[in-house]
Amino acid sequence: MKEKLLEKFRELYGSAEGVSVYFAPGRVNMIGEHTDYNGGHVFPCALTIGTYMAVKKRQDRKLRFYSMNFEKLGVLESAIDGIEPEDAAEWTNYPKGVMWAFAGRGFLMDCGLDMVIYGNIPAGSGLSSSASLEVVTGFMLKEQYGFAVSNIDIALIGQYSENNFNGMNCGIMDQFASAMGKKDHAIFLNTADLSYEYAPLVLDGAKILITNSNVKHKLVDSKYNERRSESETALQELQEVIGIKTLGDLSEEQFDTYQSAIKDEIRRKRAKHAVYENRRTIRAVEALKNNDIALFGELMNASHVSLRDDYEVSCEEIDVLVDEAWKVDGVIGSRITGGGFGGCTVSIVKDEAIDAFRQQVGAAYTERTGNTADFYVVDIGDGPSVL
Ligand code: ADP
Ligand code: MG
Repeated sequence: MKEKLLEKFRELYGSAEGVSVYFAPGRVNMIGEHTDYNGGHVFPCALTIGTYMAVKKRQDRKLRFYSMNFEKLGVLESAIDGIEPEDAAEWTNYPKGVMWAFAGRGFLMDCGLDMVIYGNIPAGSGLSSSASLEVVTGFMLKEQYGFAVSNIDIALIGQYSENNFNGMNCGIMDQFASAMGKKDHAIFLNTADLSYEYAPLVLDGAKILITNSNVKHKLVDSKYNERRSESETALQELQEVIGIKTLGDLSEEQFDTYQSAIKDEIRRKRAKHAVYENRRTIRAVEALKNNDIALFGELMNASHVSLRDDYEVSCEEIDVLVDEAWKVDGVIGSRITGGGFGGCTVSIVKDEAIDAFRQQVGAAYTERTGNTADFYVVDIGDGPSVL
């Protein structure tokens, strides 16, 4: 992979001498969806697929970007001064947003860069190609300019720039999972205070299988922002009757007792998901520690039902994938993963059932929706690195 980037770098910019190559992973979330901006827990893991970035410092203040995933756009140029979001900057608004956010914290680049980027995450599939691009940028800046930031800072800066530069009100999960990934472990993160714990996720006789619906519905970002504001309003209504900081502070019983304070039925369903999903996530990690993978799978399934019916972030295609997965012998659990409205499902599938899963779910998906699904057995990898 490194050689592939260096070759492109040479072709575009003349020489690959003194070029450094960095990597940051994408992520899959096992359980705890739409809880990260509600003060709840999440349980994601970094993947071995992600975003690569080859860079070399320049003598002037120019920035030159090239993505092997957006070849038609060619080399996109700008400068380190006066960075602001622009439609014409296309995808470079992600790395530029990170540079802008670093500058806002006093970390100033003293020269420009030539860059080549390549990602092997299927784009826009809910496996966080955007967060991995932000994290690889932050990690590169730290290494190239000697900025004194930790990997958690890099995650926070990435989230800050996606929120404030790219207009996507995401929580901290994606960037945290990418920046803090650990091979063969999932990260049990409490988003209320960023305390976290690594939990081994080596499945005896089973694998993590991601199914890509290959659909992404429009308005994903606006729907996401809408869910976020519905949850915030519900929280404010609950705060009239109980002293909580976030929805993640509530137990299911407390929610049931106080839910009537939420004046609108839709907002009540949104808040219910946030509260119950948080508790499910805590219970799922306990189940994993107790080697009770069957219970872990049941909680994944319940998570899907809640995201489908209460939080309403699924869609027909994803529901078909999950429904068909549940029918396959040897499937321990299956659910939507990521922001929703398309993208991927994550399933835990026994080794001997993987082939049957691909065949049955693939055929049924095409028959019921006319679309083709892709399947990936994934490995859990480490956070950002220098290659
Ligand atoms: P995801 O679920 O993959 O994070 P997003 O819509 O949040 O989906 O982010 C996808 C966007 O991130 C792309 O449209 C592009 O702008 C940017 N991006 C991700 N990976 C790359 C890459 N390798 N090269 C250029 N841009 C990328
Ligand atoms: Mg994203």
